[in-house]
Amino acid sequence: MSDSLFSDASKRLQAALKYVSISDDAIEHLKYPKSSLSVSIPVRMDDGSLKVFQGYRVRYDDTRGPAKGGVRYHPNVSLDEVQSLAFWMTFKCAALNLPFGGGKGGITVDPKALSKLELERLSRGYIDAIADFIGPDVDILAPDVYTNAMIMGWMMDQYSIIRRQISPAVVTGKPITMGGSLGRDGATATGAFFVIESIMPKFEQVPQETTVAIQGFGNAGAVLAELLAKAGYKVVAISDSQGGIYAKNGLDIPSIRHYKAAGNGVKAVYCRNSVCNIVEHEVITNQELLALDVDILIPAALENQITEENVNTINAKYIFEAANGPVTSAADRVLEAKGIYVFPDILVNAGGVTVSYFEWVQNRSGLYWTLEEVNQRLKQKIVEESNRIWSISQELAVPMRTAAYIHALNRLGEALNAKGTRDYYINSRVS
Ligand code: NAD
Repeated sequence: MSDSLFSDASKRLQAALKYVSISDDAIEHLKYPKSSLSVSIPVRMDDGSLKVFQGYRVRYDDTRGPAKGGVRYHPNVSLDEVQSLAFWMTFKCAALNLPFGGGKGGITVDPKALSKLELERLSRGYIDAIADFIGPDVDILAPDVYTNAMIMGWMMDQYSIIRRQISPAVVTGKPITMGGSLGRDGATATGAFFVIESIMPKFEQVPQETTVAIQGFGNAGAVLAELLAKAGYKVVAISDSQGGIYAKNGLDIPSIRHYKAAGNGVKAVYCRNSVCNIVEHEVITNQELLALDVDILIPAALENQITEENVNTINAKYIFEAANGPVTSAADRVLEAKGIYVFPDILVNAGGVTVSYFEWVQNRSGLYWTLEEVNQRLKQKIVEESNRIWSISQELAVPMRTAAYIHALNRLGEALNAKGTRDYYINSRVS
C-alpha cells in the first residue's frame, strides 16, 4: 500500500535529523500538527438548492510566529493533503527565516463547476466557518491552486465583517486596492527564477544553452515560463490539466499566456492567431512532458507527479520544484542515484510566502513599497538562503532537499528549545 502524503512528507524530516543536534523534545513536537480543523460549508447554489462542501484549516506549527499558508480549491483536497502542505509551509518559512509558522487550508471542490456567485458564497462561507481559528497574529491565509486575488479579497472582506474592523493582514495575495502588495501575483515565479539564476552558474549552465519544460501553466508555471523565456532560456514544453505542447526551438510564451487568459487550455490556444504557423510544435501528454530530454524540468502543478512508477522515465538534468511536493521520497532516491539534481519546493517556491510576508508587514505598518523595493528585497532573501542551503549541501555532501531541511530544522530547533527542554527542567528541579 502506498504511504499517505503526510507520512511521505515526514520522511524528509527523518532524512535531515541525523545532521542536526536539536533536542528530542523539538523532534517530538515537529512530528505532529498543532491543530486541524474540518468544517462543513453550506452553500446556496444558483438553482436554489443547498450544497454542503468540506473545508479544512491546519496549523502545523507556530513556534516561530503565526501560522501562514494558502487555501486550495480542488476536488482532491483532503485533510491528509492539507496537513502535508502545512508541514511544508512550516519548513519553508523556517528555511527562509520568515517570522511565521506553517498552516494551510482547502476546500474539496471543483471550482470550475461553480458560477462566480457560488464561488463567492463558498469563499465567504469558508471564512464564517474558520473565523475563530485564524487572524493576523494567529494564522494568515493566501492563494494556492485555483484560488486567486479576488477570492482573497472576498475572504479578507468577510473576516473584516465578522470582526467589525478592517483586517487586511489576515489574508495575503489580496487585490492591490484592498491592501495587496505589488509583486505578490508573480512572487512565486519570481522567487523560483532567482533560485534558478543563482544555481545555474554553479553548473556553468548558461540560459541560451538551457532547455526547459514546465508542467502546470497557472500562477507559478506561466509567470516562470515568461521570466525564463525573457532571460534567454529555451522553454520548449508547457502543460496544464488538459495536456501540453512541445516545440524543440522554443515556445512563444507571451502569446500562450495571452490566449490562455481568454479561458482556453494551452493545447487549444497554441494554434490560434497563427502562432502554430510560426513555430512547429506537437501536442503531448503531461507524462510525456515529464519524460522530455531537457536540461531543466519544472513541475508547477500538483504533488505526487514524479513517483516510483515514472521516475525511470525522467531525462532532465535538474528539477526545480515550483509545485509543493511534486516528487515523492521514493522517487527522490532514484533521481539521486541517477545523478539528477532536485531543488526542493521549500526553497524554489518560497518567493510566494516571502512576498506574502512583505504584504503582511506593509498592512501592519501602513506603509506601502514600490515594485522595485519588493523585488529587490525578495531577491536578496531568496539568493541569500539559496546560497546557504547550497553550502550546507556541499559541506555535508547531501542533496539540496536534505540541506534545506537541515537549515530549517536548525532554526525550528532553536526556537523550540528556547521554550525549555528536558535538560532545562531536569537540571532546574528544586531539591
Ligand atoms: P494555479 O491554480 O494558478 O495553476 C495550477 C496549474 O496547474 C493550472 O495551469 C492547471 O491547469 C495545472 N494543472 C492542474 N492539474 C494538473 C495536472 N494533473 N497536470 C498538469 N497540470 C495540471 O496554481 P498555482 O498557484 O500556480 O500553484 C501551482 C503549484 O504551486 C501548487 O503546488 C502550489 O501549492 C504551488 N505554490 C503556489 C504558490 C502561489 O503563490 N500561488 C506559492 C507556493 C507554491
